[in-house]
Amino acid sequence: MDRSHRDQPGMSPIIAPADAASRRAAKPTIVYPAGTMPGPDLAALEQARRTMVKTHELTVPPRDARTFRVARGQFFRIVSIDGPQVGDLNLWNAEDLSERFFSGKTRALHGTHVGIGDRLWSNMPYLRPMATISHDTLGWYGFDEDGAGIHDVIGTRCDPYTNLLLNGTAYDFCCHSNLCRALATELTMEPRAIEHHVHDVLNVFMCTGFTRDTHQYFMKASPVRPGDFIEFLAEIDLLGALSACPGGDCSATHSSDAAACHALKIEIFEPDRTTLKDWSWPSPSAYHRRHGGHAQS
Ligand SMILES: [Zn+2]
Repeated sequence: MDRSHRDQPGMSPIIAPADAASRRAAKPTIVYPAGTMPGPDLAALEQARRTMVKTHELTVPPRDARTFRVARGQFFRIVSIDGPQVGDLNLWNAEDLSERFFSGKTRALHGTHVGIGDRLWSNMPYLRPMATISHDTLGWYGFDEDGAGIHDVIGTRCDPYTNLLLNGTAYDFCCHSNLCRALATELTMEPRAIEHHVHDVLNVFMCTGFTRDTHQYFMKASPVRPGDFIEFLAEIDLLGALSACPGGDCSATHSSDAAACHALKIEIFEPDRTTLKDWSWPSPSAYHRRHGGHAQS
């Protein structure tokens, strides 16, 4: 999909104004400078993670998803075990599914890809950290020569609707469907009854970027290898769901059974809680929610 349709014969021409160059020369301003927001106490986080003991683990089979629960103050890891594999993560407040991960604002606050010290933020009107990234064995990757990074908050999740739109086929094991089945099992409901709770993901281990010429979303083979993991501190009580993407390492294709696909492991850890005694646990946003309107009498 390129943009050549904009230049087809018969289309009204788009004429650049005389001062186009000077308009383009305006200097960029970081929308949300990181320094304006208090960051997590990484030293305390490191102290806590050194005391933690694994209490639970589960396996997410290939082309499928599983849910898991993590209490506030526990850590959880997503671990590569059998081979390069991308995971699609959803998070909800365990007591209220209307509070869920807000990929768009997380992107605006931290950038297109997240790493150690970044937070996974919840939607409005809550807008608080749901989890803080405490470790990432792929933290060495940074951004490569294609402009790609790891763990993106720019993709949404592979889904059967887009697949039908573009390929004309029905495929039931996209991450969206996997997450729907897993949450439906968790809530003992039908997938279509809970589908609206499934939301834009954190693309764990996925290597992605935007092409430099057309700024289109691209993926390339994930550098993740067995033993690699990303680790989070749960800032609130969480219900999570993780899908092992049918794209496998997402080097070539998804939304089909064509790619080699591997299981992922989820591990949950309990730290010595005294190491987190001064941690400031987040409350929902204190905004008054009047939005400039009149209060109802
Ligand atoms: Zn997927």
